[in-house]
Formats: sequence, C-alpha cells, structure tokens
Amino acid sequence: MICSQNDIKFYNDFQLTNFNTLKIKSTAKYFYMPDNDGELITLLKKYKNLNPIVIGNGSNILFSSKGVEEPVIYTGKMKSSIIIGNILEAQAGVKVQTLSKLALDKKLSGFEFLIGIPASLGGACYMNAGAHGCSISNNFISAKVYDIEKNKVITLKKEDMNFSYRHSILKEKRYILLSAKFELKKAPSEEIKSKMDENIIFRKNRQPNLAIPNAGSVFKNPENCEFSAGALIDKCNLRGFQIGDVQVWENHCNFVINKGKATSSDYIDVIFEMYSRVKEKFNIELTPEIIYIGKMSKSEKEKWKILKK
Ligand SMILES: Cc1cc2nc3c(=O)[nH]c(=O)nc-3n(C[C@H](O)[C@H](O)[C@H](O)COP(=O)(O)OP(=O)(O)OC[C@H]3O[C@@H](n4cnc5c(N)ncnc54)[C@H](O)[C@@H]3O)c2cc1C
Repeated sequence: MICSQNDIKFYNDFQLTNFNTLKIKSTAKYFYMPDNDGELITLLKKYKNLNPIVIGNGSNILFSSKGVEEPVIYTGKMKSSIIIGNILEAQAGVKVQTLSKLALDKKLSGFEFLIGIPASLGGACYMNAGAHGCSISNNFISAKVYDIEKNKVITLKKEDMNFSYRHSILKEKRYILLSAKFELKKAPSEEIKSKMDENIIFRKNRQPNLAIPNAGSVFKNPENCEFSAGALIDKCNLRGFQIGDVQVWENHCNFVINKGKATSSDYIDVIFEMYSRVKEKFNIELTPEIIYIGKMSKSEKEKWKILKK
C-alpha cells in the first residue's frame, strides 16, 4: 500500500525481493524512497529511535525471511551526479557502474574497477568496495554525510573516513552518506575502455552474474594467509554444498547462490558450515562481508554472533 507523510511516499508491508541481489523473500514493515537529501534527512530525524536502515542496491545484504521491523530507506532515487573538470560528485543512490561509464564518457580514468560491482555509491563507500587492486578510497576526496548523533550535515575528508580493506567509518552507523566527491585523471578513452573490458572479462566464470541471485563474496580474504577464502572453503570440500535452496557456487566457493526459494535461515546455516569447517581444518576464522538486516531467531543470533565476532 502506498501512503504519504509530509509528501514523502512510503509503503507498508513492502516486498524486498527486488531490493536485494540475493532475491531473498522478505517484507519491510515500512519502506521509504526519498527523492533527495532533504527527504532522507527528514526520515532519519523522524525515525531516529526506530534505528532506520538506509540501503543502496542491496548487493551486500541478507534480509531476514522473517521480515524487517525497522524503517527501510532506499536511496535509489537519489541519483544525480556532476563532473566538473576531473572532479566527479554524485549522490548516494547512483549506481557505481553508471559512474564508471560517465567517467569513460568524459575521458576520466580511476573508476574502471567499478564496472562489475552492482553497488550504489553509498553502499560502495560503506564497504570501501574494491576490485582489481583498486578501491573506492583511492580517488576519494570527501563526502557529505548526515551525522545522526549531532543532527547535522557535515563533510568528512578522506582521512576522516578510516578506510581499510572492506571498511569505512560509515560502518560505525553514526553517519549516512548523502553524496561523495572524487578526483579522477585524464586519460585516452581507448585506454579506459580497454581496462573496463578486461575487468568484465576477468569476472566471467569467476563470479556468478546477477541472473544467479547472490550477494558477492561471502567472506573477506583472511590476512596473512597464502590462500584466499574461496580456496580454503574449496579445500574443505564444500563446492556445491547445499541446504534448502542455498548453495555454495560450483564455480567459485566464496560465492553462495539462491537456487530459487532460499531463506535467510538456510543462508546462515550454509555460511556457518563454511566458517566452521575452515576453522576446524585450518584454525582460521573467516569474517563474512554480508550485512544482516531484520529479525533473527535465537539460534540464528548465536551463529551470527560467532560469525561476526
Ligand atoms: C555479483 C556481485 C559482484 C560483486 N563484486 C564485488 C567486488 O568486486 N568488490 C566489492 O567490494 N564488492 C563486490 N560485491 C559486493 C557489493 O556489491 C558491495 O559490498 C557494495 O559495496 C554494496 O553496495 P550496495 O549499494 O549494494 O549496498 P547495500 O547492500 O544496499 O548496503 C550495504 C551496507 O551499506 C549501508 N549503506 C548503503 N547506503 C548507505 C548510505 N548512503 N550511507 C550509509 N550506509 C549505507 C547499508 O546500510 C548496508 O549496511 C559484489 C556483489 C555482487 C552481487
């Protein structure tokens, strides 16, 4: 049902299946689609005590099949961007693949690595998304964020963002990214295009595309280990391992796919098995990249606590 509050549209009992790339069936009690910064800030202020959850493209989210009580705010309509000289500035909801193509149009290099990542800019900054030896922090200048604690919009510079491998200050949940600014470099378009093509080819067969519902790499690669997370999982003979409709992908063991009717509970069981077997065999504790949103049973909570510690 579509309702309106202060002209900001919201939906009750909203189906989230098309708002997460894993295609988990879930329902948000309240779902909002702000058109601009002002509306987003109004919602964040209004629902501060209900812990509103801001989402981008849902490519790193595991929604609970039991539903989400907190207000869910989708940034996908906040998608303007501007390029002046070699400076690109964009709103949180812009898809980074769009930014990669825009940069190419303007003969600007630095965003070629984003071409295969199905993220919004907000989600990419939150995760410090990266690939092919680059990450969003590389060309980052600053971000305009809403500070939930101080109730105001501030600017965070690159050094304030605490960027590291798949980490940024946004994970502390105090700031919501409204827009961000990057410095790119002039380069011949053939060079940029050929890097983008290489990156796309590299992904083929190494990653499921979005026609096979998934949420990207399940675990971070462990530090100081000669093997990647995928190789460790493979060595535990988990290729193709399946519970319900959730399966460790046959082509690469650090991806878990939804074969049709996956539930969040089956997903947790599968990744807990991956974590436990790797821990048992190698004494390495893998850390999941994915963010869980929504209700959890007691046993799910216990498993998730172990996975995220
Ligand atoms: C096929 C596939 C390939 C992938 N390849 C890569 C890859 O190469 N490299 C890589 O790093 N990742 C990859 N990923 C994972 C995923 O795309 C990234 O983690 C991405 O950064 C998530 O962005 P999103 O917009 O989808 O965020 P969401 O999944 O919507 O949200 C992720 C987190 O960010 C928070 N968030 C979102 N927007 C904001 C905002 N405006 N302000 C504050 N917090 C916010 C959310 O609350 C949530 O906690 C891949 C995923 C898939 C499905």
